[in-house]
Amino acid sequence: MLIPFLDLKRLNATYDDGIRAGIDRVLASGWYILGAEVDAFEREFAAYCGVRHCIGVADGLDALALILRAMGIGPGDEVLVPSNTFIATWLAVSSVGAQPVPVEPRPGTHNLDPDRLEAAITPRTRAIMPVHLYGQPCEMDAINAVAARHGLRVIEDAAQAHGARYQGRRAGGLGTAAGFSFYPGKNLGALGDGGAVTTNDDELAARVRLLRNYGSTVKYKHEVKGVNSRLDEMQAAVLRAKLPGLDADNVARAQAAAWYGEALAGLDLVLPEVAPGAEPVWHLYVVRSKRREALQAALSAAGIGHLVHYPIACHQQGAYADTQWPALPIAEQFQHEVLSLPIAPYLSREDVQRVVDVIRSA
Ligand SMILES: *Cc1c(COP(=O)(O)O)cnc(C)c1O
Repeated sequence: MLIPFLDLKRLNATYDDGIRAGIDRVLASGWYILGAEVDAFEREFAAYCGVRHCIGVADGLDALALILRAMGIGPGDEVLVPSNTFIATWLAVSSVGAQPVPVEPRPGTHNLDPDRLEAAITPRTRAIMPVHLYGQPCEMDAINAVAARHGLRVIEDAAQAHGARYQGRRAGGLGTAAGFSFYPGKNLGALGDGGAVTTNDDELAARVRLLRNYGSTVKYKHEVKGVNSRLDEMQAAVLRAKLPGLDADNVARAQAAAWYGEALAGLDLVLPEVAPGAEPVWHLYVVRSKRREALQAALSAAGIGHLVHYPIACHQQGAYADTQWPALPIAEQFQHEVLSLPIAPYLSREDVQRVVDVIRSA
């Protein structure tokens, strides 16, 4: 393939020395679960996000679910979620027995529309879970203001937004707590599964720490019915090798996004809009077109990778067929129009131009 959608081998090759040194350290230590590497990564990632606490967990879905559990959110409770997101956002809410309540996005940014939140709030609503979709931070001032008026918690789904800023502050510190994923394809990706919870709330952090490790802080003493959801030493060592390069990677992604923006202007395409005060990290570069199929065919023929995020809205998934959902026309429209173009830190101006040329001629 001329330009793959994402070449993880190439991306991780730039961190080869550090990753190997980290793996060697873990191997030599003889200690593989909850040790020095996880401790150090938790400190480093908390500092990076500008928060007091980071707790490493098994993956992004668990990070969100553990936050909800730690907040005591469960059966009978409702959580506001975007109608257009990866299904993990909804599954986290469902996993604790609470009800996801979809709220439609602002079409330009693809992110939760703060003006639609209030109409979705009921006496059962406990929290809002905004997703910084495609790496673009949500309009957090407006979301936090609604939450404050109604006494709701704000849980950021920051799985696509490592390093993104809103009003100068990093994702991960923009609500009550945040869930991150270190799935290999994310902006900060491990060589396997991984996740983290970040928060400035001391009590919540202690509770998540307890829950992720069998409800235990002292070995073989179990205070609550916890789970096993730990970031392992090997993945923590890999993430420590990659974290120092995250900002530079994100700058390179922003450069590629800027090239796309310039070169695609004037075409019959809807380009991503950036909200005031938002500094996206371009996890994905997503355009919209009424003629998506023709573009997909042309890109495939030219050997250029492309994907759809996401082809089936959460409320139309078989997993959620047990509930009567209201019409969600924006999410239902987007699933037929969104198209993700290749974006990665290593993409050159020539690569971007090649993608754009194919789209132009289509
Ligand atoms: C990747 C992702 C998750 C889940 O992360 P995993 O580590 O795969 O469990 C959650 N929310 C969003 C928006 C994601 O993109």
